[in-house]
Amino acid sequence: MFADKYSIFSVIAQAFNGQRGWKPAWRDVAPQDEYDVVIIGGGGHGLSTAHYLASRFGVTRVAVLERGYIGSGNIGRNTTIIRSNYLLPGNTAFYELSMKLWEGLEQDINYNAMVSQRGVLNLYHSDGQRDAYARRGNAMRLAGVDAELLDAAAVEKMLPFLDRDNARFPIKGGLIQRRGGTVRHDAVAWGYARAADRRGVDIIQHCEVTGIKLENGRAVGVETSRGPIRAKKIAMAAAGNSSTVAAMAGLRLPIETHVLQAFVSEGIKPFIDGVVTFGAGHFYISQSDKGGLVFGGDIDGYNTYAQRGNLPVVEDVLESGMALMPRIGRVRLLRQWGGLMDMSMDGSPIIDHTPIQGLYLNAGWCYGGFKATPASGYCFAHLIARDEPHEVARELRLDRFAKGLVVDEKGMGAQPNLH
Ligand SMILES: Cc1cc2nc3c(=O)[nH]c(=O)nc-3n(C[C@H](O)[C@H](O)[C@H](O)COP(=O)(O)OP(=O)(O)OC[C@H]3O[C@@H](n4cnc5c(N)ncnc54)[C@H](O)[C@@H]3O)c2cc1C
Repeated sequence: MFADKYSIFSVIAQAFNGQRGWKPAWRDVAPQDEYDVVIIGGGGHGLSTAHYLASRFGVTRVAVLERGYIGSGNIGRNTTIIRSNYLLPGNTAFYELSMKLWEGLEQDINYNAMVSQRGVLNLYHSDGQRDAYARRGNAMRLAGVDAELLDAAAVEKMLPFLDRDNARFPIKGGLIQRRGGTVRHDAVAWGYARAADRRGVDIIQHCEVTGIKLENGRAVGVETSRGPIRAKKIAMAAAGNSSTVAAMAGLRLPIETHVLQAFVSEGIKPFIDGVVTFGAGHFYISQSDKGGLVFGGDIDGYNTYAQRGNLPVVEDVLESGMALMPRIGRVRLLRQWGGLMDMSMDGSPIIDHTPIQGLYLNAGWCYGGFKATPASGYCFAHLIARDEPHEVARELRLDRFAKGLVVDEKGMGAQPNLH
């Protein structure tokens, strides 16, 4: 007998069967000629959109087209951090919706995604930075999001190994969101794919979209490496490839693609409970369940579609790590890789219609799109199904750059390398 639902009872039942009765996590299907919705990109956002379209909006004639395999993009390359510690109203409610969806995700999709709310701590190193963090923390609390400002003694108690008396970057305290944390990234992709498949969505791997077909100014289908597919609605969720996919319909997006690298050390005994970010440079670190230190920093400062980075950023990230916790220098680096970031011009995402009827856009995630995966999918599904934006995503419009309505969270303006 094939088991479908994951539970302790089905694991026990399957034990009598040598665990040979499990159904594949999703069906391997050939594309049909036509769907109600075709989603371009089987990353976290494309798959979560499919799940919420089917489970919340009753739209099940859906195909997710992925040119590689599920998990081959950024959903399987990120450093797994989730948080909702944003300042601006255009972002706060959106990311808090995501946090709430993370909190119920495993029950919703019947999949262990290892959601681990172990806290995200942003360190501050000057009085000015403390004031900025206090402002952000207050804005979060006013919006119903948890935030706590810690002083130097509280940080020392929590993380005694940090180089807190460093003359250049003394650690004066931190802003912590205790509900933030990490989630196992590839399990999120597999879990959403499986849940969407169970509701009838076709997950089609190794199917590259090569063209978007327009008729009378309306998007009516896609050309793919596995033949043409017609669709009433076409949803782009191609992350780092958003600009090239949108260009197939003649659109030019306010997005640049850059590479971001991640690093994992050899496994060592647990010593970092949560996620810690350095406030005097771009560096963040957590420890995986296997014991590896998982860390990263800045994007490589040039445009590219190559999923690998260069040594200057490796050096920069490791220097910041050494400034924060010199003992990291004793640990060996095990793995390192890169992923493609769709950097928007204000650092905030876009979930919106495009000027072409029937063509929808989900893009501009910069290096923060993993934490957004549930809300992004939910709000995109809402937009596609109802043809109007979800209330928490109203400000994430495509025309905000032309209209001067940017959601400039960090006040950096149109400089992707600073976001
Ligand atoms: C090193 C690194 C660290 C990061 N750390 C974090 C973090 O800690 N927290 C956080 O919130 N975010 C983080 N991010 C960002 C986050 O991973 C991304 O913003 C997010 O995953 C993007 O959405 P996605 O999952 O849908 O992207 P992807 O998984 O990249 O999905 C897009 C998919 O579209 C497919 N595609 C592209 N073109 C086509 C085509 N023509 N036809 C068919 N398919 C196509 C691609 O193959 C890809 O699978 C990090 C990213 C990287 C690279």
